[in-house]
Amino acid sequence: MIATPESREADLIGLIGELYPICRSITGEGVRETLRRIAQRLPIAVHEVPSGTQVFDWTVPREWNIRDAWIKNLNGDRVVDFRECNLHVVSYSVPVRKRMPISELKEHLHTLPDHSSWIPYKTSYYREAWGFCVSADQARALADSEYDVCIDSTLADGHLTYGEFYLPGDSAEEVLFSTHVCHPSLCNDNLSGIAVAVFLARWLTTLAHRRFSYRFLFIPGTIGSITWLARNRDRLRAIRHGLVLTGLGSRGGLVYKRSRIGTAVIDRAAAHVLKHTAGENEVREFIPYGYDERQYCSPGVNLAVGCLSRTPFGEYPEYHTSADNMDFVEAGQLEGSFMACQSIVRVLEDEARYVSRMQMCEPQLGRRGLYSSMGGAGEARVQEMAMLWVLNFSDGHHSLLDIAERSGLSFESIRRATVLLHEKGLLERMQTDGSAAFDALHGEIGESAR
Ligand code: ZN
Repeated sequence: MIATPESREADLIGLIGELYPICRSITGEGVRETLRRIAQRLPIAVHEVPSGTQVFDWTVPREWNIRDAWIKNLNGDRVVDFRECNLHVVSYSVPVRKRMPISELKEHLHTLPDHSSWIPYKTSYYREAWGFCVSADQARALADSEYDVCIDSTLADGHLTYGEFYLPGDSAEEVLFSTHVCHPSLCNDNLSGIAVAVFLARWLTTLAHRRFSYRFLFIPGTIGSITWLARNRDRLRAIRHGLVLTGLGSRGGLVYKRSRIGTAVIDRAAAHVLKHTAGENEVREFIPYGYDERQYCSPGVNLAVGCLSRTPFGEYPEYHTSADNMDFVEAGQLEGSFMACQSIVRVLEDEARYVSRMQMCEPQLGRRGLYSSMGGAGEARVQEMAMLWVLNFSDGHHSLLDIAERSGLSFESIRRATVLLHEKGLLERMQTDGSAAFDALHGEIGESAR
């Protein structure tokens, strides 16, 4: 069954809404529950890595779980309640149960003075500490008195949990998609990335042909990608292209951050798709900061992995606050991000080189029903131009993406022209592009899923 854009928008928002209430962190039951919900839609494998496992320079931390937390006044009223918003507790807070004066409590309160009704999101992963995040309004309302403070959490040996979905294709060469699953009730960062990844993977399963194999990782940020890389060193050679997916549901155009390589096929494919997608889209150079692309692009790993988002982290005020909620992500923006991912996949799948069988002057297209004698207009004109570009540059040195970039035409126009010319016997596919000798284009015309 093929999803319509409307039904997919509902699917994307539906999954975000379902995952939103769960309190996630880099380890613990919140991640497991999230992966269980994902598994209802996608047959992922769930991996458990014991605390204390050495992963490169890092150690898998103790597992953190939380049941409840509150600040009560002396009347016993919960003036701050974890059950109302899981951002209230600093992630990885050690357990606390204590009565204390306001002066002592205030040392453990985090607020956002510029947005007095928003609750910030804070973590204390690798340092034993505890704290509460509250709105500035809540903090101001606390009277000069004593408070009972409780964080009913555990920090104990356990596991780091991540999810993985592998979808084989005709080649063992892989495309990697990675998204983090460690944030509590925050929608854009990063339930949007999870939702787009889940439905992108489902779409890939419906394709009649896949040139590449696909791997999707649902991992805690930083420690998750480091752990996966440490456990899969022998697999890295197979990864040809990759994308980190995050922040895909907010307003703003698409932003692609290049891999460390900078000119990899994924970098060119993403830049090409963004150029031909409506909106104020932007391509940025690699910097060694951001999401898990930092690990995938560390010098010894150096995979062709970029990062696709909308407005990047830290550049919107709602980032890492309670305002990154269900109202902040838009179904149409999620769907647009999903479609950009689809387009990037199509470029990766169909990128190839062809050789024209007629290198000496143009073949006579009219005789083959490929050229309107009246001169085409609109879409027909684009198609005719695309054919001329493909014929001229199919000299064995230029790929379809090369031709698309040089012509200014979309990859899809160039691909369609190539299919037509190939069908008429005017082109031959080169088998030397490093991937399997799989003729992806022939016979794909009219395939409804594409
Ligand atoms: Zn974040």
